[in-house]
Amino acid sequence: MPSKVLENGTVITFDDATKSVRVLPRASILIVNDRIAAITDNADDLSIPPDAEIINVEGKIVSPGFVNTHVHMWQSVFRTLAPDIVLAQYFDWLSQMSSTATKHFTPETVYVSCLEGYLEGLNAGVTSYVDHAHNNWGRDIVKPGYEAAVDSGARVWWCYDVTVNNEKFPEMEQWKTFSGIAKEPAPSRIQFGLSLDGLAGEFSTDTEIHLNNLKNATKEMNLTAITMHHMAGPWPQGNSSPSLITSQNIHTTNIPIIFSHASFLTTDDMSALNQHNLFVSITPESECHYGHGQATGHLISPQASLGVDTAFTFSGDMLSQARLWLQTVRNTNYRKTLDAGLIPNKTPMKVEQAFLLATRQGGLALRRPDIGVLQVGAKADIVVFNGDAPNMLGWSDPVAAVILHANSGDIQHVLVDGQFRKRDFKLSGEGVKWSWDDVKSRFVEAARAIQPLVKTPVPAPEKLWGIAEMGDVDVASTVVG
Ligand SMILES: [Zn+2]
Repeated sequence: MPSKVLENGTVITFDDATKSVRVLPRASILIVNDRIAAITDNADDLSIPPDAEIINVEGKIVSPGFVNTHVHMWQSVFRTLAPDIVLAQYFDWLSQMSSTATKHFTPETVYVSCLEGYLEGLNAGVTSYVDHAHNNWGRDIVKPGYEAAVDSGARVWWCYDVTVNNEKFPEMEQWKTFSGIAKEPAPSRIQFGLSLDGLAGEFSTDTEIHLNNLKNATKEMNLTAITMHHMAGPWPQGNSSPSLITSQNIHTTNIPIIFSHASFLTTDDMSALNQHNLFVSITPESECHYGHGQATGHLISPQASLGVDTAFTFSGDMLSQARLWLQTVRNTNYRKTLDAGLIPNKTPMKVEQAFLLATRQGGLALRRPDIGVLQVGAKADIVVFNGDAPNMLGWSDPVAAVILHANSGDIQHVLVDGQFRKRDFKLSGEGVKWSWDDVKSRFVEAARAIQPLVKTPVPAPEKLWGIAEMGDVDVASTVVG
């Protein structure tokens, strides 16, 4: 692959010495193979290989790619279903636990749903994903989800959720299927991980078997990430709290663990995250949308990253998540001062912190300091914002422009491993199998086939999973009188 030079852009780098963003107002990036070989604000310093492609990015903002540390790609085909539901309805309606939804999926539906989901993210500058792949209800729909990750051209930690208690696709058969996939040759941008919602139940003999299987798998399969949902608070208590997980010696496998949502962390949980360098994935829009709540995420920012969750029913981009989380933290912390009858005297969170949560912190959650940053030696996962649209025009602070003003339509180029995935505002893969037009028609066909079959929401249960109390919610009215 010929080298590339992104020439004369405003480059958002990260300074390890100050642990903060450093902006180079007019700098060039040399990409050799899949990595950044040089970043310089003096073009004369650059020894450009003769065959290098020069891409002029003058006047544009060059940012690291965004890292989405929690998503379920297989559901993309449900897009716009469930705009007004709570989480307790989702489980029985459109989740992997709902056979009324999953029975309509063919291998093609899973494949094209996942592929389109990755392309939605790539179009919006999301270059890395932790896919909590719970397309696990049948033996023929596992691999198509994985193949979509490979074919997408995105960087994916494909974390298969080995579910328990599925008679049609028993746990041991799932391990076999998963390990078979993990043994196949894969591009280096695909990493294998595990999702562990099976631990959500009470500790039992089954859980011990599950944990032993996990420990064996991490040794045999070269797994590089573990992720699991965790909420606590009023939600049914499982075994996925950071304090409990670290007490089970899973962390001694030295694999990064990401707890998605982690809405109600205890002091012990936060200590466990710090002590073992484990991360949470806050998914702001999901937690607002469904009512998970997010009571403690703002207290654990050094061990936090950001994710999307069920992108079919809200934004699939990280700009929206970073912006929503920034303003959520501000609102939460301002309220404390206001409730004391006082006027806030400083901002609780800066845009730079939101930017880092959506980029570098995702890399750190995966223990990959070469992901989510523009530095020499880092992976060449790069997003170029064109700043000429009315919503960005006149920008002088590139981080503020990205976090507070940009949308995916402002993204001109996206590169993963130094290869274009979006070029001149259009999805177009260098060395990938898909064409957007083909994905588009297949996805529309799949969405039109499946949505009428599953479109009716189920009512909220009287008790969640028969055990947790439900409560009334104040409902807004937009009608006067
Ligand atoms: Zn989730």
